[in-house]
Amino acid sequence: MSTSQLYHNQGLKGVKYLRSTYAEGITIYHGAMSDSYIKCSKCYSRKVIRSGGVFRTIKLLPTGIRHNLLRLFIPRVVCKKCGAIRQVTVPFLEGQRSYTRALASFVFSMSQFLPLKDVAVLCGLSWDTVKQIHKEKLKRKFKRIKLKNVHQIAIDEVCIGRPRKFLTIVLDLETGQVLHIGRGKGANALKGFWRRLKHTKAKIQAVSTDMASGYMAAVREHLPETVLVIDRFHLVKYMNDKLTTLRRQLAREAEESEKELLKGTRWLLVTGRKKLEDKKNPREADRIALDKALEANEPLYIAYYLKEELAALWSKDSKEEAKKYLDSWLTKAEESGVTMLEKVAEWLTGVKFNILNWFDYQISSGKLEAFNGKIRRLLKNTCGLRDQEYMFLRIQNLMYAKT
Ligand SMILES: [Zn+2]
Repeated sequence: MSTSQLYHNQGLKGVKYLRSTYAEGITIYHGAMSDSYIKCSKCYSRKVIRSGGVFRTIKLLPTGIRHNLLRLFIPRVVCKKCGAIRQVTVPFLEGQRSYTRALASFVFSMSQFLPLKDVAVLCGLSWDTVKQIHKEKLKRKFKRIKLKNVHQIAIDEVCIGRPRKFLTIVLDLETGQVLHIGRGKGANALKGFWRRLKHTKAKIQAVSTDMASGYMAAVREHLPETVLVIDRFHLVKYMNDKLTTLRRQLAREAEESEKELLKGTRWLLVTGRKKLEDKKNPREADRIALDKALEANEPLYIAYYLKEELAALWSKDSKEEAKKYLDSWLTKAEESGVTMLEKVAEWLTGVKFNILNWFDYQISSGKLEAFNGKIRRLLKNTCGLRDQEYMFLRIQNLMYAKT
């Protein structure tokens, strides 16, 4: 090893190589500060007098699985110009850290895809140090998220564990960046976001949310000019949930023979008909079982077909056409004689406008839904991340994660 190699391999600027020793599988480089770095750390004057100093042991980048250390004498100097008595500045160390900047960068890139405990073993650092490095760098990366140029957003909740704990996430639909993470769900979790948004004078054109009234009401209050779109996937899921409830209710009330027919149809009911009749992979037996169950239960039959019809709403060619289609759907539901459908119709009539807004802004929370899976995996793999600030940073960072 030479001075030049220390510089090129380890980023050790201003260190003269002296010698190497080896102990317990670790290589220890001994070095001294180059003369050109012996200057006042306050006024940078070179007119200084050496006055003792300290030895420090600094962690370096590993070579494969071998750990490297630097034993460095850091001189203290008295400045003739400003009078300060200080240790000279070591360019490759940040403050009083015991590892080089190069090692910190390496830890950061490894932490992006390896568990922290593995990075710690690889680099010969403690888990806490690795976490600290990762957190600081993420903090710098996400220091200021600019809201000024945000136009379209999605708001959704993600369940992060039991007992039912939630986070509310706001996503920029154009860049995929996480704009806000709030604890819990509902309007309260968005408070900080509105505050920040107000300062930036951003012009949000459209928002996609689920039908949880908390978010819708909050958007209406804080962004009255913005187009509010009810997320189509949530709406389809809502219909499926209603259908499942209806099936359960019918099964409870049914005769034994009918009960048999309803058995095992839950998934068939929520699966789109197209899937059952798929040309490549038709599920004939499933389709017959479903049809039998539907034939025997009129309310279920009506609800099932209305569910299928609603899912086709978004394939209409224009907003006009969709409006007609939805109106006719609502009439059918109102007149169905099935209490569940009547209630759904009443509810959807109230938000009809927001459902149809999709034809002006074809946005959805789909991106956010996919992201929710990533968040859950992250929290599972990291046992919940107890440090909330760090957890939020890692969630923001997920947009750069490939899986
Ligand atoms: Zn000075």
